[in-house]
Amino acid sequence: MKTLRQYQCELCKAIYDKRADAAACEAQGTKEPIVAVGDFVTTDHGDYGRFGWFDGDPAWVIEKPRGLHGRAQCYSLIYVVTMVAVADETTDSNGWHTSHHDLCYHVATKGMSGQKGYTQGFTFPETHVRLRKVTSDISAGLDASDLIGQRARYLL
Ligand SMILES: [Zn+2]
Repeated sequence: MKTLRQYQCELCKAIYDKRADAAACEAQGTKEPIVAVGDFVTTDHGDYGRFGWFDGDPAWVIEKPRGLHGRAQCYSLIYVVTMVAVADETTDSNGWHTSHHDLCYHVATKGMSGQKGYTQGFTFPETHVRLRKVTSDISAGLDASDLIGQRARYLL
C-alpha cells in the first residue's frame, strides 16, 4: 500500500501533486475587487442586461428609456453584491473565468420575486456579465441586509 500526498491551494482549492505547484498557485494572489459586498449594482451595458418584465419590488428596478432592442428591454434590475469569492469548483465548471483566482461576484435582487425569474446569480465581470455600481440616491432605502452573504448557485 502506498500513501499519496497532495497539496491544495488555499485560495482556489485546486489540488496538485507537487507542493511547488500549489505554492505557485497561491502565489498568484487575488485581484482587487471592483465592487464590494453590500454595493448596489446593475448589470446593464448598453441595451444588454435589461428585462422586459419584472414581478418583484419596483424599488429594485430602474425603468430605462426604450433602447436599440425595442420596448421589450426597458427594466434594469438593481442587485446587491452578496459575496465576492475566488472562483472555485462550484463556479469553475462553466468556464467563464479566464484564470485561477479570478474573483466571482455573487449578486441578488428583490426586483424579481423568484416565481418566474432568478433572484440571484454569479458572474465574472471581465468575461461574463458586467457590474456597474449605482449611485447612492438610486439605492437609498433599499434593504439588502437579509441577502448579504448569500452564495448564488447559477451563472447570472
Ligand atoms: Zn489557486
